[in-house]
Order: sequence, then C-alpha cells, then structure tokens
Amino acid sequence: MSPRFHHCYELDPSVISSDIAGQIFLKPKRAQPFYSRHPWVFAGAIERIEGEPADGAAVDVRSHVGNFVARGLFNSQSKIQVRLYSWDETAVFDREFFKARLERAISFRHDLLHLNTGPNAAYRVAFSEADQLSGMVVDRYGEYLTVQFTSLALAERRVMLGELLMELLGAKGVYLRTEKGIGKLEGVVLQDGLLCGEMPPAEVVIEENGLKFAVNLSEGQKTGYYLDQRDNRTAVAEFAKGKRVLDAFSYSGGFGVYAARAGAVEVECVDASEPALKLAERNAELNGLSVMKFHKSDVFTRLEELAIEGRKFDIIVLDPPKFARDRAAIPEAIKGYRRLHALAVKLLDANGIMVSCCCSGLITMDMLEDVIGQVAVVAKRDIQVFERRGPSADHPVAVSCREGSYLKCILSRVV
Ligand code: SAH
Repeated sequence: MSPRFHHCYELDPSVISSDIAGQIFLKPKRAQPFYSRHPWVFAGAIERIEGEPADGAAVDVRSHVGNFVARGLFNSQSKIQVRLYSWDETAVFDREFFKARLERAISFRHDLLHLNTGPNAAYRVAFSEADQLSGMVVDRYGEYLTVQFTSLALAERRVMLGELLMELLGAKGVYLRTEKGIGKLEGVVLQDGLLCGEMPPAEVVIEENGLKFAVNLSEGQKTGYYLDQRDNRTAVAEFAKGKRVLDAFSYSGGFGVYAARAGAVEVECVDASEPALKLAERNAELNGLSVMKFHKSDVFTRLEELAIEGRKFDIIVLDPPKFARDRAAIPEAIKGYRRLHALAVKLLDANGIMVSCCCSGLITMDMLEDVIGQVAVVAKRDIQVFERRGPSADHPVAVSCREGSYLKCILSRVV
C-alpha cells in the first residue's frame, strides 16, 4: 500500500496524558510474575494504590518495598487492573512509544516473515500480548485494516492508534470491530464502525497462497476471515489430490478451497451459518472450483446423517468454534470434542486423515491427543499422530504470556 495521510474522525487524542498518575504497590511475594514480564496485574496482587489514577491512565507498578517493576495502563473496571507495556522506568506512553511498538510488529511480518504485502495481502498486523500491545489486535485485508480493542486504555487511545496504522501501512481505512462481552469485562463502550479513512466495501477480495477469498470486514465472523489457519490449510492440501474431503465447520471454506485446488475429487463444506456458506460458495466461484458442495447443518447432525448414508471420506477437517470459554467448561468441552471425533472416525475410510483443530486456549495439545486416543480405543482403530501444528507465524506467542497460545491442529492417520 502506498503512503496516504488521513485523519480519524474523533477528537484530538493528545487529551490522553502520558503522565504517571499513580503508584501501584504489590503485595509481598507477588512481584515475581511481573519481573518476568507477564503483562497482567490482577486486583488480587495489589496491596495499595497511591494517587487517584483515572481508568486508562499511566501508572507505575512497584514491589511492596517500593522498587520499580514496570509501567502500565490502569483500569479499575477490569479484573486486569494494570496492563504492563514497559519495564523501562523512563518510558513515556505517547504517540512515539506506540508508533515504535507498531513498527516492531509490522517489521516482524514484513522483514522477517516476508509475508506478501501487495494490494491483496492479508495477515495479522499486531496480536495483543504477543506484540507487547496487550488489548489490541489488528488484521490487514488488502487496503483496509480491522482493529479490535480488549483493553479500555488502548480503546481510549484508538484515534491515535488508528492514525498511526494508516500512516505506517498506507491503509485506505481502519474499521473497528468489537468482541461480544468485552464491554462488560473492561468497561469499554465501543461500537463497530469506521475509525479512520474510507469505509471498506462489503466485499474485499484478498489473496492467500494464490487463492482468492472474499472478506466482509464489518459483518464477517471474527474480523472477517480466519488468518490463523493459513499454513494449516496448506498442510492439509498436501494430501488432498484425488481425495474425498469433508470440511466440517467450514466458515468461508478455507480448508475446502485449498483442498479443491490441490485436486480433491469431492469437497463438502458443512456449517450451521447461512452467511458463512454463502461466502464459501463465493470463494469456490472466485477460484473456479466446481467440485465443492455446501451443506447448511449442525455438524454433529450432518456427520450422523453421512454415517447412516454409508458415505466415506479420505480427509475430514474438524475446526469447531471455541468449546471452553472458562475452566469450569473444560469437562463439557472435552465431551464435545470426543463426540465430534468419534463421529468423524466412523466416516474415515482406511488410512484416512483426520485434522483436529482446537482454538480453546484452555484445552492443551496433550488434552486434544488424549481425546483422539480415547476415540481410537472405542472405535477399535489405530491412529497415528503425524503432525502437531499451531497458528501461522503472524500469530506469535509472547514467552512471558503463554495464555496467548490457543490454536492447535493435529494431523493423524486413522488406519
Ligand atoms: N474452518 C474455518 C473456520 C471455522 S470457524 C476456516 O478455515 O476459515 C467455526 C465455524 O463453525 C463458524 O463458521 C460457525 O458458523 C460454525 N459452527 C459453530 N457451531 C456449529 C455447529 N454446531 N454446526 C455447524 N457449524 C457450526
């Protein structure tokens, strides 16, 4: 994208001061995680607050004896009372600071990963804690960007951040997406809408590994497209030539489109959402892929139907939404994954490939392998795990905040 300059629509962001408005003293023995650069200071670790920092203001976090630990942004309405952005006592959270952070994130994608940066490029520009920007996610779709805020303090700085993004990436527009429930968690009052520049068109066509995908930035799920599965789609497509493929929980058909281009003889996309399947159909059309079929249904119901019909597949992709939102939901989630895998195994022909994706951060790779193991026993089939994968490299994890690790993708052969 060529450099352009646009102003955002709201007030001058300089009203947000970068002065240190408070001192947060930690309880004894509670400073270690923050010396280790974990960015979330929960209320339970705080002993007392000096000063009266407003929500969104800059504060210093100190050990109980008063030693400087880190500098962050305060929010009394969140369980995460301080999000830490710097371990340098001289840091100032001004425009230059955030510009440098965004440049660091962009440089990782452009200079190290060498991602396509052409006019139809699509990648994650910044990924919250992983890019030392706790509470901000930026995705690029061609000449437009989406931004999501999960921190009140960064949401308050959205005009400055939006302008910086326009400037650094030469984008035509930045569209603000909000995640359900975040208003309550952080006290952020935001609505989806244009933040800077021009309104993106209803259909932005991006290119991923030579394939075209239609993305709707304002209405689509997540921020319009699942960028994190890019490399997993490529990995699955390796095996797809001449194969019958079932893309379960297909959304806009990512896995199915890759498999069809690789020469699959049959691809069925299943999703419960009508708009998702419309997008998948559009994507099949954009890439001239005629083997693709679409079925609007609950996946569990469809897998049962296919078994009754005696249908068989060579590759089944299972990419369900997050089943476990909190710790209490883990046992039910495991049951759900188990049922899903049990149904899939029945539909796989000899030596079929099962692709098990799981985007619940609370379910680990080991737990997912356990599910596959249990299903193998019940089905009396031998299953060999041969690839353990994660998200694409533009979705990194900060070693200091492994909570950011969420996507797992296991390829196994069902003998
Ligand atoms: N595989 C997709 C992303 C899947 S996101 C890709 O590569 O882009 C999960 C999808 O599951 C969503 O599209 C959602 O509509 C669908 N979904 C959720 N619950 C479902 C259910 N019980 N049956 C069918 N589809 C479901």
